[in-house]
Amino acid sequence: MSSHRAWIGLGSNLDDPRRHIEQALEELDRLPLTRRLGASRCYVSRPLGPRDQPDFINAVALLETRLSPLALLDQLQALEQRHRRVRARRWGPRTLDLDLLLFDDSVLSLPRLSVPHPELTHRAFVVLPLLELAPTLALPDGLRLAGLAEALEADGLAPLLPTT
Ligand code: ATP
Ligand code: CA
Ligand code: CA
Repeated sequence: MSSHRAWIGLGSNLDDPRRHIEQALEELDRLPLTRRLGASRCYVSRPLGPRDQPDFINAVALLETRLSPLALLDQLQALEQRHRRVRARRWGPRTLDLDLLLFDDSVLSLPRLSVPHPELTHRAFVVLPLLELAPTLALPDGLRLAGLAEALEADGLAPLLPTT
């Protein structure tokens, strides 16, 4: 079984978000057939949708895994469930969101899984932590992420403050 590189976007804006992110980073390292190779700092971002909810804490992790993309998604969703179960609030903000951003150079368009994550290039809270870990990172189509950062900031789309 070959090993793969998977980039995960983490987000939380409920119940001590920093703790959820830090705990999730440890849990990602303990997933089956998986280890965590790195993690970005935590960033603060304003919510994308309704403004009447707390700011988000975001981070990105790099995993080495022998899981398939869908098996990894299953693991990520199980992990989200474990965090949500602590304080499940109907329509409330999220205790933990785990998005599969990139999986090697795979391009997948499955009912449950689109890779690269479709919104990746539009989100400063994803692009900037990715660049922190991998300044030369490129998408499967060859697009270098470094070229996006400036535009995101210029658009005022990056209200990010490193918290550490
Ligand atoms: P967004 O995907 O725009 O960040 P979200 O994270 O709030 O929105 P969720 O409610 O967490 O969306 O996920 C909805 C569905 O998206 C999941 O059930 C999952 O099957 C699907 N999905 C598709 N592609 C991905 C991906 N790359 N990573 C995680 N989930 C994905
Ligand atoms: Ca998301
Ligand atoms: Ca998600």
